[in-house]
Amino acid sequence: RSLRKFEPLQRGGFGQLTEVGMYACGPTVYNFAHIGNLRTYIFEDLLRRTLEFNGFKVKHVMNITDVGHLVSDADTGEDKMEKGSRQTGKTAWEIAEFYTEEFQADMRRLNLKEPTIWCRATDHIQEQIDLIRCIEAKGFTYQVSDGIYFDTSKLPDYGYLGRLDIAGLQAGARIEMGEKRNPTDFAVWKFSPSDQKRQMEWDSPWGTGFPGWHLECSAMSAKYLSPYFDIHCGGEDHISVHHTNEIAQTEACYGTRLANFWVHGYFLQMDENTRMSKSSGEFIRIQTLIDLGYDPLAYKFFCMSAVYRQKLNFTWEGLDAAAKSLDRLRIAAYEMGDPGTLDENYLERFADCINDDLNMPRAAALIWELVRSELQAPVKKATLLAFDAVLGLGLAEWTPKEEEIPQLILDLVAKRQLARAEKRWKDADSVRAEISAAGYEIMDTPEGPKVKPTK
Ligand code: AMP
Ligand code: ZN
Repeated sequence: RSLRKFEPLQRGGFGQLTEVGMYACGPTVYNFAHIGNLRTYIFEDLLRRTLEFNGFKVKHVMNITDVGHLVSDADTGEDKMEKGSRQTGKTAWEIAEFYTEEFQADMRRLNLKEPTIWCRATDHIQEQIDLIRCIEAKGFTYQVSDGIYFDTSKLPDYGYLGRLDIAGLQAGARIEMGEKRNPTDFAVWKFSPSDQKRQMEWDSPWGTGFPGWHLECSAMSAKYLSPYFDIHCGGEDHISVHHTNEIAQTEACYGTRLANFWVHGYFLQMDENTRMSKSSGEFIRIQTLIDLGYDPLAYKFFCMSAVYRQKLNFTWEGLDAAAKSLDRLRIAAYEMGDPGTLDENYLERFADCINDDLNMPRAAALIWELVRSELQAPVKKATLLAFDAVLGLGLAEWTPKEEEIPQLILDLVAKRQLARAEKRWKDADSVRAEISAAGYEIMDTPEGPKVKPTK
């Protein structure tokens, strides 16, 4: 909600890079990620690379939510993992494994950097139980029939991140509250139902059950970063419940704030009003785009046409434009040849754009200005590759694809070669005419004939 100059909490020692702690809420692995989810991870990757561009070392922690995320944010309904299991006949563990790998594959296809640390909720049950014990010892919990809850009324500034209207919520929610003392109270531990065995459950001092969804992030960020760290990010939907509750847990146990900076990515939506969600009909995945012939990086480039702090409408026209534009950039970069020395002035201007709260539309305009500039090709290339350390478009590796020539044309080329070898020049010429009528041209080179489509 405001721009603040980024200052790290800790400085690296002599000769060391300063390390910045960054925690990003990871996927709930009961289904594939859709391109909306991935917009958030693309923004986080840009944030991380921007910090690195500025000379910081980033410790990037991402969790995998494989237990405890219930269908409803109000701590009711089925666990998304168990629901997935019921629907597919696979175990919750198999589902988690499968979708975790699919998610990581999507990240690679978008050329997103691998987090420094991946951490699964189910691998950190002890840490989560310890955190509940700590919160309990400080007097913030109470027990009801289905679990242990956090009493949000005990935290004076509860809800500040989302500017929650606590009084209004209190007045409106009397009926649905069940045994909860306040509408904003949330489960930190849920008991397994007495009449059915869950696939994922653990013993605890309070009884067999599983951790509440918000708990894992407070427990694992404290373990791998520290209770108070530099940057916490996620999608905008996390502001009012998930991140608000992470803050409550950490403040209750450690008496510190959770993160120095909160950075939220805004939603990708299908049109003005509908957000893309895992339960909605329009579920577009990276694989969907690939099946339709798009390069995943074209989607990444599309995301860069907007600032992360605003909603972005997905349209196929927009994606087509981004794909064309990316192709032009790749070809331009390829034709620049080998890199020389970079242009410091352009580099500084690029830093100004990305350091202006990741202003990618401004950065994109600068990229085209550089491409069209009077600078020498090797200088342009080196500068563009330095930009690409942040953009992650793989410009250094890209080469134009060999055009696929249909077999029919290749056969004609062979026929013409034979005619030439036998000095039947007239035949050779007529085959050439046939090839050209089919939309291809032949160039005779020292290595033999080359065919390409006529432009
Ligand atoms: P989930 O797997 O549902 O826990 O969500 C993974 C990430 O995607 C979270 O950071 C969400 O805030 C984010 N997210 C969910 N839907 C969208 C969307 N339509 N656009 C952008 N980010 C989203
Ligand atoms: Zn989280």
